[in-house]
Amino acid sequence: MMLKGKRSIVTGGSRGIGNAIAREFLAQGATVYILSRTPADNQSELEDVAREAGGALHWRETDMTREEQVTKSVDAIIGEAGGVDVLVNNAGITRDGLIFRMPTSDWEDVLRANLSSAFFTCRSVARAMIKQRAGSIINISSVSGIMGNAGQVNYSASKAGLIGFSKSLAREVAARGVRVNVIAPGFIETDMTRALGDKAREALMAQIPLSRAGLPADVAALALFLAGDSSAYITGQVIPVDGGLSM
Ligand code: NDP
Repeated sequence: MMLKGKRSIVTGGSRGIGNAIAREFLAQGATVYILSRTPADNQSELEDVAREAGGALHWRETDMTREEQVTKSVDAIIGEAGGVDVLVNNAGITRDGLIFRMPTSDWEDVLRANLSSAFFTCRSVARAMIKQRAGSIINISSVSGIMGNAGQVNYSASKAGLIGFSKSLAREVAARGVRVNVIAPGFIETDMTRALGDKAREALMAQIPLSRAGLPADVAALALFLAGDSSAYITGQVIPVDGGLSM
């Protein structure tokens, strides 16, 4: 029970990587608040996991691109739970395309969903964590934010932005006992990557030294480590979970 009694917020926990992180946290005894636009379709399964481990699952309908909605949800959770111990900024979207064909709306939508959303949550959460003199913030970036990726200027910019954001925030809050780290997943099997065609998939797979796509659980295992006390001396770091893709 590595997260017994820890109050945790996971954005975009309705599906994919965020859902696996929520599940892992619940299995370790945490109380998890999922923020997303739709509920998880495995909600009752997650509730069973929570019950068995002595934690609880809550869902708050929140569009992470809407500043007032995010602030309202996060502040309500902090008020209700009396604080927050772990925040995972995971919600994200892609709107891929080459730059000369990319409408400004695709640029703005991705920056807002992937980067501004983390600013909105962290502003409220950092204040609460500083008061507590403890907390762990985990931001889900991408290897695209480290290596770049043709067809993803918007997505790569948002994910690289999240790295700079996290390092600056880590420096702002470290003296108060709050840690901020980044996970940079490579190619993980979720709805987001299922949209890729067979050709793009094969080309990607050929570049992965471990020769397989990652699973949401591979990312959740690192999130658990960064959320808990085993990583107490780690902050401001960017850790890839990518089968060696970015080495
Ligand atoms: P999915 O598309 O499977 O899930 C995305 C999640 O984000 C959903 O829960 C969705 O919830 C939520 N979300 C998206 N937009 C919003 C919004 N406006 N408001 C609230 N929630 C939102 O993606 P993945 O699980 O694959 O990706 C999770 C994170 O990991 C993303 O940040 C992604 O960039 C990153 N990543 C993924 C990789 C991969 O290979 N899959 C690789 C590298 C990074 P809902 O629709 O219910 O609102």
